[in-house]
Amino acid sequence: MTVDVRSYVGGTWRDGVRTTADVNPAHPTEHVAQTHLGDARLAAAIEAARGAFAAWRVTPAPVRGGILRKAGDLLEERAEDVGRDLTREEGKTLAEGIGETRRAVAILRYYAGQTLEPDGVTYPSHSPATFLFARREPVGVVVAITPWNFPIAIPAWKIAPALAFGNTVVWKPAESVPLTAVHLLRALVDAGLPAGVLNLVIGKGSEIGDRLTTHEAVDAITFTGSNAVGRRLQLKAAELGKKVQLEMGGKNPAVVLADADLAHAAEHVARGAFLSAGQKCTATSRVIVEQPALREFQERLVALAKSWKLGDPLDPDTRVGPLASEDQFKTVTGYLDIGAKDGARVLAGGARAGDLGDGYYVQPTVLADVPPESKVVREEIFGPVAALITARSYDDAVALANDTPFGLTSSLFTRDLAKALRFAADIRTGVVKINQESAGLEFQVPFGGMKESSSGSREQGKAAQEFFTQWKTVYLDLPPSA
Ligand code: NAD
Repeated sequence: MTVDVRSYVGGTWRDGVRTTADVNPAHPTEHVAQTHLGDARLAAAIEAARGAFAAWRVTPAPVRGGILRKAGDLLEERAEDVGRDLTREEGKTLAEGIGETRRAVAILRYYAGQTLEPDGVTYPSHSPATFLFARREPVGVVVAITPWNFPIAIPAWKIAPALAFGNTVVWKPAESVPLTAVHLLRALVDAGLPAGVLNLVIGKGSEIGDRLTTHEAVDAITFTGSNAVGRRLQLKAAELGKKVQLEMGGKNPAVVLADADLAHAAEHVARGAFLSAGQKCTATSRVIVEQPALREFQERLVALAKSWKLGDPLDPDTRVGPLASEDQFKTVTGYLDIGAKDGARVLAGGARAGDLGDGYYVQPTVLADVPPESKVVREEIFGPVAALITARSYDDAVALANDTPFGLTSSLFTRDLAKALRFAADIRTGVVKINQESAGLEFQVPFGGMKESSSGSREQGKAAQEFFTQWKTVYLDLPPSA
């Protein structure tokens, strides 16, 4: 039986104006669901969020938190099924799909806890009669636009703080992962979220994005996705005076110094580069190795790339699943062609997997001798591809690592703690991992990038409060007679 996936507006499910197939990237002839796409509900969703705001903003924060906590509990009960659907429509392995769902559970609970935290500060006034305080209030109607690569964790880390701090939300997930979106929405609705507080709009960004982000009733837009879309959206939103937060691409370096534990470094570089088929904004893409360590490190990384099982993501032995879509497959194989033309040497992988049917599989790939100006080392590939680059020294390695317009995450492998701290200061990325893979985030700390990778205030942890609230400062004098 085909599952139909619809938008959810003002507390009711809405048919689309047309439907499209939700494709399993491991078996593209298998349709996970039928997705209703369309735009008729767009204005209604924003109006529903606007209408629900008045009551939601004055709902006591701990009551809002109670709903988030219950949603976390419901999602935890459903995690295996949700993770399986996530894997079927996105392609990451089942362990990753269930793991990501459990991360969403933890995020919901974390922001439930945040509703019990102080929401303001008192200040000493220059006047003895004045009680002076500042409080954080919600921003209003927030549009959340999310990508397909973390289809439940990223929405959770936007929607949970937005709701916890009293905003109402219109959420547009990537149209290739609608079933996972419905699972998150259902957990919140089943937990008692009032109608209109969270609205789900399923549609193509190119068709509905502009109207969604420029609508006059929208106060703030939180976006995660590509640089091209994010920057365009920012320009339009700025013209209209809307608050904007952007999390975009990366070209994340891993630096391996000569003194590093090379077995550990190779394992973590492989994890950063190949898990989730490299489709993480935080994935390792450039591997900068100090000359004396190059040979041994390279051998170790290549051995891992060749031995990690590529295959059906529902198979428990699989380490690397398919790319998420045909478009992704074309993009990544296009970069492999560019690498070949630019003279890169393929040490492992470098092609579509030959024996896995018509799924969108690309082998974990290690490239060497890629010219520094090649697009393969300049642009985000978003696939299981690591380019090795040789460095003469620590300073050379840092210069190479910083030689990119992006600045999301980085990692360094060394036993030298002085160099580790120097690197943490020298590198221009929003997240720095020492002796850890560049991907993998904890939800209680700020997350975001520098340079072209991000714009606006940080996501996650307490830092999320900055975007989803605004200050109100109150000067209170008792009446003279009191
Ligand atoms: P994308 O920019 O194509 O799409 C992201 C979202 O924007 C989708 O929901 C899409 O439908 C929507 N969209 C598309 N056109 C739009 C428009 N004109 N107006 C409004 N919305 C529109 O990105 P993607 O391919 O889904 O995701 C991959 C990208 O996301 C990569 O660049 C990756 O690095 C980035 N990403 C960044 C982070 C981060 O936290 N920095 C995390 C995950 C992914």
